[in-house]
Amino acid sequence: MNMQQDQMDIVIGAGLAGLSTLVHSQHKQEHLQVLEAADHVGGKAKSEQIQGFTFDVTGHWLHLRDAEMRALVLKACGADHFAPVERLSRVWSHGVYTRYPFQANVYGLPPQVVHDCVMGAIEARLARPDNIEEADEPQKFSDWVRFYFGEGIAKHFMIPYNAKLWGVSADEITSRWCQRFVPRPQLESIVAGAVGCHQEGMGYNATFLYPKQGGIQTVAERLADLGGRKQIQLNTKIEQIDPSKKTLRLSNGQSLVYRKLVNTMPLPDLIDRCLAVPNEVKEARARLRATEVIYLNVGIEGVLGQADHWIYVPEERWPMYRVGSFTNAMPSMAPSGCSSLYIELSDRERALEDIIPEVIEGLIAMELIQDQAQVKFIEPRRIPNAYVIYDEHYHEAREIIHQWLTKVDILSVGRYGDWNYSSMEDALLDGKRASEWLYDTP
Ligand SMILES: Cc1cc2nc3c(=O)[nH]c(=O)nc-3n(C[C@H](O)[C@H](O)[C@H](O)COP(=O)(O)OP(=O)(O)OC[C@H]3O[C@@H](n4cnc5c(N)ncnc54)[C@H](O)[C@@H]3O)c2cc1C
Repeated sequence: MNMQQDQMDIVIGAGLAGLSTLVHSQHKQEHLQVLEAADHVGGKAKSEQIQGFTFDVTGHWLHLRDAEMRALVLKACGADHFAPVERLSRVWSHGVYTRYPFQANVYGLPPQVVHDCVMGAIEARLARPDNIEEADEPQKFSDWVRFYFGEGIAKHFMIPYNAKLWGVSADEITSRWCQRFVPRPQLESIVAGAVGCHQEGMGYNATFLYPKQGGIQTVAERLADLGGRKQIQLNTKIEQIDPSKKTLRLSNGQSLVYRKLVNTMPLPDLIDRCLAVPNEVKEARARLRATEVIYLNVGIEGVLGQADHWIYVPEERWPMYRVGSFTNAMPSMAPSGCSSLYIELSDRERALEDIIPEVIEGLIAMELIQDQAQVKFIEPRRIPNAYVIYDEHYHEAREIIHQWLTKVDILSVGRYGDWNYSSMEDALLDGKRASEWLYDTP
């Protein structure tokens, strides 16, 4: 690295948060270096090729609500890089498809299920006072669901689906993650959706952008081009951090002195790599929890029987919680005449040999494929730390860690650096925040 060490600022990780920090720091400081352990940029926003198919790390659909981040992405990639896509997403349960979100569209389910959902929603509404402040809402996610949606929607979707997704009981997680992600229709909308008067465009992700070619990693590649490749060093893992001396030890044996440090690696890993961590911070780190996700990349011969971009599978009897298709959003993600699926598994215990036949049975029952012969390959993958668990310790533990990091001139950002449940756009926004912390604050 050719720079004056005493002026160097370091960003750990060239995922979207790290790349955005670099892009936002352009023209402010040339002695910024992004160090990335992997041999590519993008982090979770990466794409891989298998037999001519392109797969992202499960569905990575780009929702850009912030005007500045939208402008940044379009500047980096060019407007022509993307196709706008209208979300096609449904729930598959009791052998039938219903529209997303479940809570506003129970029409079509067996009559007893519809009855449970509607009556539960009415009872919950009658029991709930008007004008609730957020601070007065139930803290436990399972209680929050019953409070707003009632017993039926809790039982038939919210509780089983979220237990499958998070890998822990809905009693163990708090409601704090879900304000933005779980649409909360009024009783009138729940009733309308139960009798077939459907609600369109509900939720945070009704439309999204997707690259016409090459998968989501192309966005990271273009951001790296915009930020400047010479300031990104790949294949460089940070092994140890000494916050008191402001030094880093790298996987290549080199040591560096930094002025300020922006981190985007997972928060527990960061603490594990720091020297002289106070006991209180170590204890807080021990309380951070996350769920690993195992998913399957599947190549399919022929066209899929359903057009959805993703389908929620809440029932416990199936080992997957969500099935999505890249090719339904962008046909260029597979060779001509083929389709692709990504399947996110909720069964994290059993061997894949036992799970995969049940997955294929499910794909046939969902009428996505007609028979197993259409399956060209199934490639399993893992995402460590995929979902940070918002349990009763989460907020306090995370707060203690961030407060200490700030004192030692480390800002930890991004979905895993900050340790939260958020989107690619949030990672880009975090990069802007990190750049301001580096260069616009005293
Ligand atoms: C299953 C799943 C589905 C998702 N779907 C969507 C979606 O549809 N839409 C959406 O907007 N968002 C989605 N997201 C969220 C999105 O992936 C993240 O918000 C975003 O990619 C996070 O970027 P980041 O830079 O914060 O972290 P990361 O992408 O994790 O980047 C961190 C980087 O740090 C590097 N690193 C780690 N340790 C070290 C070390 N010791 N030394 C050097 N480098 C290191 C890593 O290699 C990595 O490149 C999804 C996430 C998951 C898990």
